[in-house]
Amino acid sequence: MTRYVEKDCASIIVKSKLPDTTYVVNPYTGCEFGCSYCYASFMGRFVGETIESWGEYVFVKRNAVEVFKRDLRKLSDETRQGSMLLSSVTDAWQPVERKYRLSSGIVAELVRARYPGVVSVLTKSPIVLDDLELLRQLPRADIGVTVTTTDDNIARVLEVRSPSARRRIHTLERLNAGGISTYAFVGPLLPHFSEQKSALHDLFKSLRDAGTREIYVELINKSRYIRERLDSAYLSGDRALIQSYIDADELKQRSRLARLVNELVEQYDFRLRLGKVLDHRQDPK
Ligand code: SF4
Repeated sequence: MTRYVEKDCASIIVKSKLPDTTYVVNPYTGCEFGCSYCYASFMGRFVGETIESWGEYVFVKRNAVEVFKRDLRKLSDETRQGSMLLSSVTDAWQPVERKYRLSSGIVAELVRARYPGVVSVLTKSPIVLDDLELLRQLPRADIGVTVTTTDDNIARVLEVRSPSARRRIHTLERLNAGGISTYAFVGPLLPHFSEQKSALHDLFKSLRDAGTREIYVELINKSRYIRERLDSAYLSGDRALIQSYIDADELKQRSRLARLVNELVEQYDFRLRLGKVLDHRQDPK
C-alpha cells in the first residue's frame, strides 16, 4: 500500500544536470510504480524515507501549480527558452495524478504562457492521455514513454506495479496518432537481451509499429544504492535472468548490447537519441 502525504514546496523549476535538459519539474516525491531498477530511490533521503521503502510513499506537492506559475514568471526572456522535463525523479502521471492534477495544471500553465522551449515528458502511464489535448497545444512537446520489455514475466519481476507494456505501447500509438512528437525510452536496457536478440527485436518492432521514430537507450545502472532493491528482484527471477544480471558487470555484455541496439536502430530506421547507448560507467552524471 502506498502512503500519500501532502506538503508544500518552496520552488519547483530546478536546473538540471541531465543531458539535453535545462530544467526538471517534479510535482511528486516518490512513485507508486516502485520499479525495482529505479534510480530515483535516493530521493527518499529528502523526505525521511529509506531506499527500501521506494514505491511505498508519495509526497504530493499540493501547491505545485501555484509555485510553478511563480517560478515561471521569474525566468528571464533568455532563460525561458530552456527545455523542461516532467519528470526526472518521479512519474508525473502516476495514478495519484488523477486526484491532484498537478502535472496537468503545470502543462496548462505552460500552454497559457506559450512556453517556447521544448517541454519533455517521460512516463510509463496511460494517464498522460488525459492531457492529450493540452499537450497538443504546447508549441514544442516531446513525449516519452518508457518501455523496457514486451515480456510480462520479466515485467512482473522488475516493474510489478507499472502499467503493462501493451498499455504503454498503446499510449505511444495514441500520442503518435494525435500528432504529438514522441520517443520511447528503453531504459534500462535489460541485460538478458544480450542472449535474446529476438526479444529485443520484438520490443523495437512494437515501438516502430506504434509509430515512434526516436528512441533513447540506456544500459542498466548497478550503482550500489540501486542494487539494494534490484538484487532481490532479480533473485526472484529464473536462472538465465539472474546470470544475465551478473554478467551486466562485464564489458563484453555491455558492448554486445550496444551492438544489437545499433543493428536494430538501423533495421527499423530509428533515430537514436544522443547518438549512442548511454552507459553510466562511461558517462557518470
Ligand atoms: S515509473 Fe519511473 S520514477 Fe516511477 S518507479 Fe518506475 S522508474 Fe522510478
